[in-house]
Amino acid sequence: MRPYTFASVRSVGEALGQARDGSAYLAGGTTLVDLMKLEVVTPAHVVDITAVPLRGIRADATGLFIGATERMADVAGHDLVAGPYPMLAEALRQSASPQIRNMATIGGNLLQRTRCGYFRDPATACNKRSPGSGCPAVGGHNRSHAILGTSDACVATHPSDMAVALIALDARLSLRGTDGERTLRLADFYRLPGSTPHLENELRPGELITGVTVPALSWARTSVYLKVRDRQSYEFALCSAAVAVNVTNGVIGEARVAAGGVGAKPWRLPGVERALKGRPMRLQTFEAAVAHAADGARPLSHNAFKPALLCRTIIRALVHLAG
Ligand code: FAD
Ligand code: SF4
Repeated sequence: MRPYTFASVRSVGEALGQARDGSAYLAGGTTLVDLMKLEVVTPAHVVDITAVPLRGIRADATGLFIGATERMADVAGHDLVAGPYPMLAEALRQSASPQIRNMATIGGNLLQRTRCGYFRDPATACNKRSPGSGCPAVGGHNRSHAILGTSDACVATHPSDMAVALIALDARLSLRGTDGERTLRLADFYRLPGSTPHLENELRPGELITGVTVPALSWARTSVYLKVRDRQSYEFALCSAAVAVNVTNGVIGEARVAAGGVGAKPWRLPGVERALKGRPMRLQTFEAAVAHAADGARPLSHNAFKPALLCRTIIRALVHLAG
């Protein structure tokens, strides 16, 4: 690990005051410290924000607010999350391990880096870590990589489970920088790789995520997060689906559908949502609705199974909701 200076801060103002070129905020540390040990990221200055009062889980008529330094485990188990938003609670529960969920925070989860093995190995080329060096994953080990939203420069997936559920729920981020506060839809936060895969999101230098707001959605009670992976726990998604439906008299009024493990960013599927709307809640509807879910997909040498897996994962989530 490279040498760095360290500051522990107690307020948002102090945190912003410590931010500088080459600094990094430390929350749970479960991503940052790993990557520092590997020398994939080498911040010159680390600012510990765990004592900054950015906690709190509260709800009112407009929605649910979660503070950025809330721990994944606490959010997953909270009554305001588990009952009203099962797919969010499940996405968190199916992430990482209990120990990691006890340390890791909501803000850190959204900013975790890709699990592409080349990215995590400084001895290899990687456009995301070292712009212009190339993308060995395109012709190499790419079974777990993305098929949607990729470019010739990068085919990595975004690994967060929680972000998939939050995208389906139309969540908004609260951000604070030296210029003041702003909010941004999570859907507009992540960038596609294009020719600049090292630029992953819209966070400005030194800016803090202070919280996440989920707009009220009463029918999100009928939702599920289904994660398909190589082993039942402690593994990232090969494919996942966050699905919510509003069903009256057996007919789908509205639906929310997003997928993980397949996109360069958490992937909302508005075409599938439209195809479900107004249709009976049954298997034939689900099969027809996913027919174009993987349109535009660019499978790689080792993940040609992913378009079919995406469709089947969404169908299975819908079948689960249909009981
Ligand atoms: P940190 O490591 O502290 O920070 C991560 C990044 O976010 C850093 O760049 C930091 O500077 C920045 N940051 C943190 N908070 C803020 C903030 N408020 N404002 C601005 N910047 C901030 N995740 C899944 O979704 N699914 C999985 O299955 C899964 N499996 C895992 C398995 C293992 C073995 C490990 C190690 C991790 C796994 N994870 C998984 C990832 C895990 O969820 C993340 O490591 C964790 O959520 C990061 O949160 P943290 O608080 O520890 O972030
Ligand atoms: Fe790097 Fe992206 Fe290629 Fe992985 S897929 S090696 S992260 S450029």
